[in-house]
Amino acid sequence: MREALLAGLERLKIELPRERTEGIVRFGEAVLEKNKVMNLTAITDPVQAAELHLLDSLSLLKVLPLGGKSLLDVGTGAGFPGVPLKLAEPSLRLTLLDSLQKRMRWLETEALPPLGVEARFLTGRAEDFAREQRERYDVAASRAVARLDLLCELCLPFVHRGGYFLAMKGALAKEELRQAANAIRLLGGSYERTEEFEIGGAVHSVIVIHKTGKTPEQYPRSWARMKQKPLA
Ligand code: SAM
Repeated sequence: MREALLAGLERLKIELPRERTEGIVRFGEAVLEKNKVMNLTAITDPVQAAELHLLDSLSLLKVLPLGGKSLLDVGTGAGFPGVPLKLAEPSLRLTLLDSLQKRMRWLETEALPPLGVEARFLTGRAEDFAREQRERYDVAASRAVARLDLLCELCLPFVHRGGYFLAMKGALAKEELRQAANAIRLLGGSYERTEEFEIGGAVHSVIVIHKTGKTPEQYPRSWARMKQKPLA
């Protein structure tokens, strides 16, 4: 895992001090170890974990300067992308959000304390937290949670005007973006650009959405409503 991480960081031209890359490797190993007894990820191979979890998360460092920023990771699961980012950039003010209690408890009580990672933990559904945590974050980021139009409704309400939503997507990025154009506009966002990274032979896309206006109060709606009537 260590070799694959270091080689990938070099390819991505991301320079990190040794103690930070060691922390990232320790986290990756902790995920694979816990995965033997708790369902955290479909990936069990250390090289694939380095590429598909660690490097994919860290690619966000190339998209925006994150030092000192508040970042909300929506649907963090086993901690991606938020935890590798915090280990790489300790000044990041990280909040992890997920509805699955078991994963959040593992992160909060077992995985992160030995690594010295400080974060806030929001356990529950994004659409329920969006009222109390509205327009509070510099950046929201999310990977593998929902289709882009639905994801925008889950994530953009958390970002203040001038902030960014970073949606990590794979091969379907362009198609999802086309489908989400109206949702982005209605929710106070503005599509800025897509950054592509080649990691482990596959293209990973980060869709960068700038929050240029306020999200109208009626959003987000309930998950059932969002799915039934997407903002297309
Ligand atoms: N982001 C992680 C990653 O890329 O490895 C986890 C991806 S996992 C496939 C999706 C996660 O999103 C799950 O842990 C699930 O509980 C969470 N999730 C899905 N919808 C959510 C919602 N509306 N609010 C909070 N968490 C949600």
